Amino acid sequence: MDLGLKDKIALVTGGSRGIGRSIAEGLAREGAKVCFTYTSNEAAAQETVAAIEAAGGKASAKKFDVGDAAAAKAAVDELVKEEGALHILVNNAGVSIDGLLMRYKDEDLARIFQTNVFGAFYLARAAARPMMKSRWGRIVMLGSVVGETGNVGQTAYASTKSALDGMTKSLARELASRNITANVVAPGYIGTDMTSSISDEMKTAMLAAIPAGEMGRPEDIADTVAFLCSERARYVTGQVVNVNGGMYM
Ligand code: NDP
Repeated sequence: MDLGLKDKIALVTGGSRGIGRSIAEGLAREGAKVCFTYTSNEAAAQETVAAIEAAGGKASAKKFDVGDAAAAKAAVDELVKEEGALHILVNNAGVSIDGLLMRYKDEDLARIFQTNVFGAFYLARAAARPMMKSRWGRIVMLGSVVGETGNVGQTAYASTKSALDGMTKSLARELASRNITANVVAPGYIGTDMTSSISDEMKTAMLAAIPAGEMGRPEDIADTVAFLCSERARYVTGQVVNVNGGMYM
């Protein structure tokens, strides 16, 4: 199935590793020119650019913190200047800082919202103008199964992910007439650095709650994101698409 992504300009936040890297690779494989962001892991960013180019794709990386409003706007403006347009934004960058409510620190609450919610808002705001100019756009947010179900020890993280649902549905309404869609992809339990530190006991409990009986792979998320970014998904907007092996339905 041709997804119609050839020569589309895409920005993927947090694309140096994990799910974001897989999304960047997937969009590049479909012909999009992909710019991804990272904050700290320079080696991982360079490796991702090299892997995409080795597979015949086009990629570049920009280093900035998505929670910095000025940096986010400057990066989008720079990309539009370099490439002439911006068609696809995937707000994937995110952090998880877990802890029980009573012990949760104010600075952790500020940081998790700054990255997961404010970052997504800053980039969507900056990307909307060039997308309107192109009269074509795709915005995809990375939510989470816990944003739909809640989870013990994840009150802050789940709040940030539920916030993306409301943000996305509002964006979808605001931008639909300009041929711009906005959707959330809510992953279940996916094997990345983020989930590598979960205890064996917790992993066993999570696996027992997944009808598919296994954790997901980054590519499971990337394939869904690529479809939502495509021309084929033109009539899908304002949706939360759960990709979780049946963990929540
Ligand atoms: P990882 O921790 O493996 O990777 C996170 C990526 O985000 C890295 O590339 C990192 O860059 C980047 N990043 C982090 N903070 C910032 C920031 N402030 N500005 C710019 N980039 C940043 O995460 P995953 O791949 O596991 O998760 C990706 C998304 O999917 C997240 O939004 C997460 O909440 C969501 N998700 C993941 C699930 C899972 O099971 N893994 C389940 C549900 C949702 P650098 O390396 O430079 O720090």
